[in-house]
Amino acid sequence: MPTPRININLSKIAHNAKVLSSLFKSKGIEIIAVTKGVCAHPHIANVLVNSGIKILADSRISNIKEMRAAGVKASFLLIRTPMISQAESVVLDTDMSLNSELSVIKKLSEFAILHGKIHKVIVMVELGDLREGILPSQLENTIKKVLSLRGVELTGIGTNLACFSGVKPTTEKMELLSSIASSIEKKFKIKLSVISGGNSANYNWFSTTKDVGRINNLRLGESIFLGYEPLTGKPIPKLYQDAFMLVAEVIELKNKSSMPDGEIGLNAFGNKPKFKDQGIIRRAILAMGVQDVMVAGLTPKLDVEILGAGGDHIIINAKKENLKVGSDVSFTLKYGALVTAMNSSYIFKNIITPINGEEYCAIVEEKDSLHKKKTAVMTVKEDHSPLISLQDSDFNLIFQKSIQKNYRYLVREEVYKKIGRISELLNNQGKKLIIRSAWRSFKHQQKLLEQKASFLKNKYPKKSIEEINKILSNFVAPKRKSTHSTGGAVDALIYDLRKKCVLDFGTNDGLHIDLNEKCYPKHPDISEEAKKNRKLLMKLFEDEDFVCDHKEYWHFDYGNIGWAVEKNKEYANYGVLKESFVQSAALNYPNKVFFYL
Ligand SMILES: *Cc1c(COP(=O)(O)O)cnc(C)c1O
Repeated sequence: MPTPRININLSKIAHNAKVLSSLFKSKGIEIIAVTKGVCAHPHIANVLVNSGIKILADSRISNIKEMRAAGVKASFLLIRTPMISQAESVVLDTDMSLNSELSVIKKLSEFAILHGKIHKVIVMVELGDLREGILPSQLENTIKKVLSLRGVELTGIGTNLACFSGVKPTTEKMELLSSIASSIEKKFKIKLSVISGGNSANYNWFSTTKDVGRINNLRLGESIFLGYEPLTGKPIPKLYQDAFMLVAEVIELKNKSSMPDGEIGLNAFGNKPKFKDQGIIRRAILAMGVQDVMVAGLTPKLDVEILGAGGDHIIINAKKENLKVGSDVSFTLKYGALVTAMNSSYIFKNIITPINGEEYCAIVEEKDSLHKKKTAVMTVKEDHSPLISLQDSDFNLIFQKSIQKNYRYLVREEVYKKIGRISELLNNQGKKLIIRSAWRSFKHQQKLLEQKASFLKNKYPKKSIEEINKILSNFVAPKRKSTHSTGGAVDALIYDLRKKCVLDFGTNDGLHIDLNEKCYPKHPDISEEAKKNRKLLMKLFEDEDFVCDHKEYWHFDYGNIGWAVEKNKEYANYGVLKESFVQSAALNYPNKVFFYL
């Protein structure tokens, strides 16, 4: 994939847009999404529309035209006071505009009449930030003239704060706008349908005010895309701050001094740079510079320090991070960095699209069939590590009843230790690990297969044998093919001690799991809660070097062929352990928990 690139996670943008929409709606405020920060990228615009936003706004007509041409289905608002020279295009290419000059509105009116259109106008009021807006004292005069013009419709009034001068949209400012709206309505006997109170910087006012007054509209860019409140730079609860990530590549990594050697003059940008003496440091050069992005707006994800940047390079102190030439280094972005990165032709726009259930399942099938081919040729160098019964441990575990009599929940010694650590982590969170199954003999596997087949036949009497076998083949391996025969496979769920129930994983009712495609671990069509719980379970095991099965979120492998394939190992450590062997070992060690081979 090309580097540098900006990863654009459409599902996270959709999430942020939905959360903010419903939050503001709770007090009667509708949201307009402002696309200028992402150069009106049509994919992003469509995501906003699909998240329920009806009006998109941009500062540039060219961006609005691009969205229109791409078939984005929304109304379009021009938010920068129109250039009088572009008045005709404003009327033709946008539905409404924010305005602060009567001469411009007059021109809009002329062209609207000419083209037989009605252009909607929101008149901006200056409330102290000293960018666009008509002074409150002159507002009535302007409104009177606008109302007399044909071809334009006065849709409402608005204000914009916290931009040029950083003036906060406080309760007083918003109450002032409300009272201006009411007095205009009274004076001219009209109804203003839009009272637009500002931008992302209105978040704190909104969250702390009970009564939003007449404000019924906000224009949001930054908070939707970056999940931050711009006045304090604090993350907004429940929002993603990493819907956009910038990735650059390391092109040089060397130990060098932190201080330059020689007389210091002006650098390439006409500044005299300053340096901090940190001795010899690991300096990495990234192939990305201020020609690509506003470097000052980047925050590295790793524990590294940006030392400076030139047109084409960013120099970082790599500290203890495990970087080498060719490594990717990722950054989150502030608004200025986002705008410049989206605008840069040097940065590849990597759209990460949410995939639907069907597409996801197709990918899983493909991966799984490749996985099966690879496991068939994977070799085993049996390490002869013993099987140990989890039942004899003092770990805090719940054992799901087995169809096998006197089932002992045997696992390899290494797996045993890992389960011990996982169960301890869970206990600290008020949860308990449920062990559903561990080592299984061929006989046990066969019995399971038969039991599941008859269960499915009962449940779906209309399905053919082929259909039943198809479901089975996804979830229960043939008796000799299951990795459970190695002692390196564990089936697990989690019990919540506070709520006194098994966590919801999307396809389970307590301990019972309904076998269907939604059991594929990252299936998109399960609830957020279930996704969170699967993530928790998978992270616990993956942190202990297990791999999760492609089709079963509860099945984890370590040391066996399934694991060796996924981890790109040369060979597996755990081969099949047959029942005869395990039993004879059990006879030899009747009182011990160890089953030596
Ligand atoms: C940019 C802009 C916005 C959006 O501001 P954010 O801080 O990105 O929410 C709203 N209104 C106007 C007039 C703007 O120029």
